[in-house]
Amino acid sequence: MSGLRSGASGRYDYLIVGAGFAGSVLAERLASQHGARVLLIDRRPHVGGNAYDEPNQAGILYHKYGPHIFHTNSEQVVDYLSQFTDWRPYEHRVRAFVRGQLVPIPINRTTLNKLFGLDLKTDEDAADYLASRAEPVDDITTSEDVVINAVGRELYELFFRGYTRKQWGLDPSELDKQVTSRIPTRTNTDDRYFSDTFQAMPLNGYTAMFEKMLDHPLIDVRTGVDFAEIKDRAHEIADHIIYTGPIDEYFDFRFGKLPYRSLRFDHQTLPQAQFQEVAVVNYPSEDVPFTRISEYKHLTGQESDVTTVTYEYPSAEGDPYYPIPRPENQELFKRYEALADATDDVTFVGRLATYRYYNMDQIVGQALATFRRMDEKRRKEQPTAVAAE
Ligand SMILES: Cc1cc2nc3c(=O)[nH]c(=O)nc-3n(C[C@H](O)[C@H](O)[C@H](O)COP(=O)(O)OP(=O)(O)OC[C@H]3O[C@@H](n4cnc5c(N)ncnc54)[C@H](O)[C@@H]3O)c2cc1C
Repeated sequence: MSGLRSGASGRYDYLIVGAGFAGSVLAERLASQHGARVLLIDRRPHVGGNAYDEPNQAGILYHKYGPHIFHTNSEQVVDYLSQFTDWRPYEHRVRAFVRGQLVPIPINRTTLNKLFGLDLKTDEDAADYLASRAEPVDDITTSEDVVINAVGRELYELFFRGYTRKQWGLDPSELDKQVTSRIPTRTNTDDRYFSDTFQAMPLNGYTAMFEKMLDHPLIDVRTGVDFAEIKDRAHEIADHIIYTGPIDEYFDFRFGKLPYRSLRFDHQTLPQAQFQEVAVVNYPSEDVPFTRISEYKHLTGQESDVTTVTYEYPSAEGDPYYPIPRPENQELFKRYEALADATDDVTFVGRLATYRYYNMDQIVGQALATFRRMDEKRRKEQPTAVAAE
């Protein structure tokens, strides 16, 4: 692994662990704005982290780690990423397969009309109907309470209980209320999954965007390199480390493992132009083992006689995808966070280092904010160097 040091740049200013959004945005900012020499490593054989996409053998662009839909309300994040990609307008729509039919999710007026054979005509009609089904819960603490309070037990069981049990391996009554607080219920017929002001997909995919972001003479990218292999020599390689991997792993799991939920992805290419009417169909029933099926051509607009879909099977084992939101896990994370705060020469950033589910735009925002703090620090420490630039 000595090649890591004797690259064209010699010693590096930064060693960045993880080439997902967090690591790649910081690599780009530090190289382009500070003229810093950056070594970016990832243990996977590619950049892009979980947002990685690639064409399969049939030429269909698919997402290796499940469908990634870009949506944000942050103009700053859009402006930043637009330096590296054009966009394809795309508004995400999801259906749920319930009682033999496909209905919009989040639950809206169409969902209620279709499912219960109703003819609710206005927002008020739908609000009154939902209110008549709701079962008020005095002290809302769990995910079950949130949903039953809003829509009642029947809709809870049809849409949320099975899905949540499959997704988390836990009953909603065992999960923090925040898990289902994310899911809105609508009284109109808007069937868009997100309401953000900007909803679009990178025109040529995420990987192309990452490649452009990292195409800088001061950035060396090494994939297939695990930090564990070079940890002992990290400070010979670079002055400072930016770590976007799992925080518990950095500290050798000394307080125990932070629990994560994982997923198994079953990608299939089928000899038909279209498989389903929208990009994602959820299967809330516990009678089927997968949680959802995604079809990429809806996201990319690609045309082909074949199509690629991904079945998602939640699992306890595998790559860390979703931190399990329970109070005891947050307490364990806080102990690791205290260690991280006391580790001056390492900056911890990204979803795995902060043990929280974040969307891509939030991680870009977090990385840009981290860069701004580093920039301010540098200005205070080296006012003359900055002035000379
Ligand atoms: C199934 C799924 C679907 C999602 N869908 C959406 C969506 O539709 N929209 C949205 O906005 N967000 C979505 N997300 C969230 C999105 O994936 C994250 O916000 C984003 O990937 C976070 O970027 P990151 O850089 O923090 O982490 P990651 O993308 O996970 O990147 C971290 C990288 O660090 C590397 N790494 C870790 N440890 C080491 C080590 N020791 N040595 C070397 N490399 C290491 C990993 O290999 C990884 O590539 C989804 C997430 C999942 C799991």
